Amino acid sequence: MKSFVSPYNFVENVNLKVDPKDIIVYDTTLRDGEQTPGICFTPDEKIDIAIKLDELGVNQIEAGFPVVSDGERRAIRNIMKQSLNSEILALTRTLKSDIDVALSCDVDGIITFIGASDLHLKYKLKMTREEALSKAVEAVEYGKSHGIFVAFTAEDSTRTDLGYLLELYKSTTEAGADRIHIADTTGSIRPMGMRYLVSQIKASIDNTIGVHCHDDFGLAVANSLAAFEAGARAISTSMNGLGERAGNASLEEIILGLRLLYGIEMPFKYEVIYELSRLVEKYTTMPVPKNKAVIGDNVFAHESGIHVLAVRAEPLTYEPYSPEFVGQKRRIILGKHCGMSCIDAKLEELRLSVPQSEKETLILKIKEMAERGAKVGDKEFKNMVQEILSKG
Ligand code: MN
Repeated sequence: MKSFVSPYNFVENVNLKVDPKDIIVYDTTLRDGEQTPGICFTPDEKIDIAIKLDELGVNQIEAGFPVVSDGERRAIRNIMKQSLNSEILALTRTLKSDIDVALSCDVDGIITFIGASDLHLKYKLKMTREEALSKAVEAVEYGKSHGIFVAFTAEDSTRTDLGYLLELYKSTTEAGADRIHIADTTGSIRPMGMRYLVSQIKASIDNTIGVHCHDDFGLAVANSLAAFEAGARAISTSMNGLGERAGNASLEEIILGLRLLYGIEMPFKYEVIYELSRLVEKYTTMPVPKNKAVIGDNVFAHESGIHVLAVRAEPLTYEPYSPEFVGQKRRIILGKHCGMSCIDAKLEELRLSVPQSEKETLILKIKEMAERGAKVGDKEFKNMVQEILSKG
């Protein structure tokens, strides 16, 4: 794609040579995303979102946590009936009974998790490290004995004693786990820490590393990409950055980052991103902030005359990539900072024209309206133009 200028593409060794086929995006909009306080998808909404995630091309969809409810199980079974290309996973605790319920939903695989940090062991599980380790191994063996994909997540990995964490990953890998997951459950690691953690795991365990990050410090995407740089090859994402508390790594930011910042050509249908985002927004009634990267309404909007002039000559001057790439649109906003180029752009967009001599009047009027806090939308602009034309 010509429409992206990499700031660092002259530094050869910041580019990773990774086969796109080796990267897995496993999306958790329907599981962790649904655990966003106050959010509950209906089974039909879950299907709609799963179909869109599949159309976008995510490799795996974590469709839910089957033990939660009947509705959850029905939703997962119905998603299975859609015969999507994406593999469908379910979350389970490291309990045979949980895994049996997941199996009853016919899923392609499970993500089985257990708290690994001393905090989780002491206050939540009331277990010793040894007990948790044998639960983890048993669960992986049980899942594998049913011939499904099994990923093992050490919950709160980033606050777990490293020696014990490695032991957990080693034992579950030997038990047949297809992938091991780092969960930054409280979103508290830094990118450098994540790089170190992944490199330590990679050095001693031969398995695919996945990473599930939370955004409590606004670093979910940065930490996920740092993990990727250090060798993690599976990334957990969530549309619109939904998820518990501050949310998870945004699906849209992760796949755009992989494609444009790392130059990795995965077969995603990027142009459905905006539509998927709005579908999720509708079902969650959680408005996407206007300045949210990739999907926000301001991301391709320009108001200042200087910017509009430049963007009209070459969009890459003030846009990192073209809006159409993610199903967005460029928008010219009329306001206090507008100039002649905004007027020309708006007239063109609305297929209107006014004599050159009247354009200055329009600019002054728009600035005056904006400064007293009045809305200057397309409708108001059309009215102004009408007024000028009727006088003429
Ligand atoms: Mn989580």
